Order: sequence, then C-alpha cells, then structure tokens
Amino acid sequence: MRISELLKRDGVTFSLEVFPPKTSDKYTQTAEAAKRIAALRPDFMSVTYGAGGGTGAFTAGIASEIQAEFGVPTLAHLTCVSSNRDHVLKMLDTYREMGIENILALRGDKPADGAISTDYKYAVELIRDIRAHGDFCIGGACYPEGHVECAHKSEDIRHLKEKVDAGLDFLTTQMFFSNDIFYNFLYRAREAGVHVPIIAGIMPITSPRQLSRSVAMSGTDVPQRFRAIVDYFGESPAAMKQAGVVYATEQIIDLIANGIRHVHVYTMNKPEVAASIMANLSDILGAGHGR
Ligand code: FAD
Repeated sequence: MRISELLKRDGVTFSLEVFPPKTSDKYTQTAEAAKRIAALRPDFMSVTYGAGGGTGAFTAGIASEIQAEFGVPTLAHLTCVSSNRDHVLKMLDTYREMGIENILALRGDKPADGAISTDYKYAVELIRDIRAHGDFCIGGACYPEGHVECAHKSEDIRHLKEKVDAGLDFLTTQMFFSNDIFYNFLYRAREAGVHVPIIAGIMPITSPRQLSRSVAMSGTDVPQRFRAIVDYFGESPAAMKQAGVVYATEQIIDLIANGIRHVHVYTMNKPEVAASIMANLSDILGAGHGR
C-alpha cells in the first residue's frame, strides 16, 4: 500500500523504523527483531539503508519479508551520495521486483574521506531519478532544527521546498526532543509552501550512549528537562529505559493533542521499547493497532 494513501486516512498514523544488519551473519537475528516489531502491527514500517550503500539487499530483504509475513506496508530507504546512477537504478528495479512501492529518498551522510558520487550531490537529484524511473511513492527527510551542514534555517527550508517540488509525497523529520521546535518548523515549512504531510520522528532514548551518539550525528538540541533525566537515571539501564519510553510517550501525546496526525518512532530494533510505547498509547491510537 502507498504511504501517501495511508496518510489520508482519518485518525493517527503510527509507524516504526528498523535498521538492517551491517553483515550477512547478523541478517537472521536482525530480521527476527524487525519481525517482532512488525507483529505489533504499526500502520507501516521503514527500513533504513546502510550509509555506504553496500547493504541495500538487506534493506530490500527485510522490507519485503515484513510485507509478505505481516501485511504491514514498508518504506525502504535509499541513499545516493556514496553511489552512482547505475546502482541506484538497479536498487529501484530490486525494490519494484520485491513489491516495495514506498521509498525514502536520501542523500546520505558524506563519507569521512569526502569522496562523494559524481552523479549525486543532493537528495533532490535522487528524487528526480526515482520519479523518472517508476511509479513509486516517495518520501524525503526534513530537519526541524535545520540540517547540520546548513548555516541558515531559511536556506534549508528553500532546499526542502525544492525537494518537495521534485516530486515528494511526504516528509519525515529528524528526531527532536522538544515539541516546540517541531511546531515552529511546521509553521515555517507551511509558510514556505511545503504542503505535503510531515511525519514527526520520535527517538526514545534508552541509554546515555545512545543519546550522545544520536546528538553527535544529528546536532539535535537536548532540553534541560531531558538532560536531567539522563543524568539521574543513566547509570541504571532498566530505569533509563523506562524513563526514555515515558519521555517519548509524553512527546507523542502532546503532538497528538496539538493536532499532529502522523508519528514515526525510531525503535533502534528494540521490540520491547516499541511495544511499551504502543501499550502506553493503546487507547490514544485507537483500534487497529494489534490490540
Ligand atoms: P539533502 O536534502 O540533499 O540535504 C543535505 C544538505 O544539503 C542540507 O544541508 C541542505 O540544506 C543542503 N542542500 C540541499 N540541496 C541543496 C542545493 N541545491 N544547494 C546547496 N545545498 C543544498 N542516512 C542513511 O545513510 N541511511 C538512512 O536510511 C537514513 N535515514 C534517514 C531518515 C530520516 C527521517 C532522516 C531525517 C535522516 C536519515 N538519514 C539516513 C540521514 C541523512 O542521510 C543525512 O541527514 C544526510 O546528511 C542528509 O540527507 P538528506 O536526504 O536530508 O539530504
């Protein structure tokens, strides 16, 4: 099912992200975790794409197995900055053959050695290629706090509008820990003429290490209230996990109460975290979520 159609339904859409393994010996274990998450019956699931692009077959495999075994629609990510047009077109053929019709089109982080693709500099070029190559439903990434490489938020929004105009059906945000940042971004995006659905991405933080790694990569601001939680509970894994789940749950409840209809949770392949959040929201999300 096309995600653009799902997003038109009444009520809240609740979706979950998983990532593929880095090596083939971890495939079964990773697919198992992804399937335990699929068994929770979110509205759809996204499967990320390894930064270097070498694990694309794992992304396609996990995404198609989830669809076939659980009937949960999937969104397969695809990056381009470390790739070339031939490889991208082959991945699109693979996705199509495996029944994947939703793609999150991303540039990918630049490799440390700075060697980027001669075919792709920005995601917008990938979006144009996907649009030209087949009838896919295409999503893109957006950054409520601005992308780390872009000095000015207004410039970042201009580039975002260019991506949307190239043929995006929806956007998913980078994680944020303060909803006010998201509300402000939404206002600026709409004012700039970005009118596709915007899915709010929520990352439950369950350890201090996860927080420092995520923040280092994304530059996401950590509000004092959340910093205090991590400082106090960080040394106790079970308590930190519980506090992280509650914090993410509260963020989602606030989003829904303020009219946000699409929420995506970055599960970090932890079925118990996804299950706890869904249990906390059972009556809020309503029927149709595996209960
Ligand atoms: P772009 O939209 O190309 O933007 C990148 C930067 O270039 C921005 O600063 C933008 O302002 C600037 N820019 C864009 N167009 C122009 C232009 N014409 N001229 C000048 N500057 C321009 N990474 C992975 O490797 N695998 C994944 O599966 C993955 N999934 C993600 C999912 C989500 C929801 C998000 C938010 C991020 C994800 N990422 C993933 C990370 C992403 O690849 C990085 O954040 C990357 O650095 C930017 O990707 P993008 O598609 O947003 O790039």
